[in-house]
Amino acid sequence: MQSLVDQLETLPEWLDSQSQPAFRARQIRKWVLQKRAIDFAAMTDLPQPLRERLAETFTVLPLEIARHQQSPDGTEKLLVKLSDGNHVECVLLRDGARRTICVSSQVGCAMGCVFCASGLDGVERNLTNGEILAQMLLLQRLLPADERLSHIVMMGMGEPLANLNQVLGALEVATAAEGLGISPRRITISTVGLPPAIDRLAKLNCRFNLAISLHAPNDALRNQLVPVNDRVGIADLLDAAERYFQVSGRRLTFEYVLLAGVNDSVVQAVELANLLKGRCQLLNVIPYNPVAGLPYETPSPQAIAAFRETLMREGIEIKFRQRKGDKINAACGQLRRIANQSPQRHSLDGDAKGSTL
Ligand code: SAH
Repeated sequence: MQSLVDQLETLPEWLDSQSQPAFRARQIRKWVLQKRAIDFAAMTDLPQPLRERLAETFTVLPLEIARHQQSPDGTEKLLVKLSDGNHVECVLLRDGARRTICVSSQVGCAMGCVFCASGLDGVERNLTNGEILAQMLLLQRLLPADERLSHIVMMGMGEPLANLNQVLGALEVATAAEGLGISPRRITISTVGLPPAIDRLAKLNCRFNLAISLHAPNDALRNQLVPVNDRVGIADLLDAAERYFQVSGRRLTFEYVLLAGVNDSVVQAVELANLLKGRCQLLNVIPYNPVAGLPYETPSPQAIAAFRETLMREGIEIKFRQRKGDKINAACGQLRRIANQSPQRHSLDGDAKGSTL
């Protein structure tokens, strides 16, 4: 059965085919996008026969919650099951007044970053527009009625720029006033860095923030950590990022996952500073969130401090991302792997003890 959120654009035609007036489309969209309905029975201002016809034809969402974990710091993580049985993950983070959601764009990932859980088994498929939007809607439902989502980061599983059409389709609804009403300046697309797709974002005059996952100060190391770099190269990537900045006016962010003994030395910090000087708007350093079975480790607090001080001395604006939700395997891709590897553990409904799974 098709899902309504995958058919929002064709809904007016379907209603027409059912001899329904055009304003019903607006009503239904409002129920789904703003009034948080996930079944047609809740849509009390629609005539009963229409509700029944809708329920025979569509599901509201194309996915369901397979597992829900909550961390003491307010982070909540959903493992969702898609209608074909695949799983993806998405997260709600609470930070002061911010209600940020982290959303997946693909089942798995083809980029092959060696430290990341999402791509260990390659990419299975792209998510549809509706599957991306539906994650936002499920996360929105975790909030009390008087709270709204404030920020979106496309930092879940998958490479958003490898599924750009569907990601942009979902973000269009996220930004629309009669959708989720979230300003593009509160939306960040995180990418491994694919220059043709970055240029497309620029051509479309997008106003989203772009976060580039750099992770290494030179091509030799980046080729090892982020294999797709072999075909891209840091120089071309930085040029594309600069072109996007010229058009969007949005501050660029570079992300750098700190891996002990791999990319965290003071020499590498200096090399990174030299690479980014004059172009960097913000460097977001993320201490590694260990993934079971992978050989990488989080650096010691001393190594992290030395790395940070070196970059600050070199005049780079730097932010250390707090690691939220690591007790619930919130580095995306981890929960799905656990679910895939040990289906019998599905029944262990998650709480903060998820970290022991
Ligand atoms: N494909 C996009 C989105 C990936 S997830 C991208 O590459 O940007 C968002 C960020 O988390 C990326 O910078 C990614 O490299 C990083 N990341 C992946 N696994 C991680 C882990 N185990 N610990 C910390 N950061 C991780």
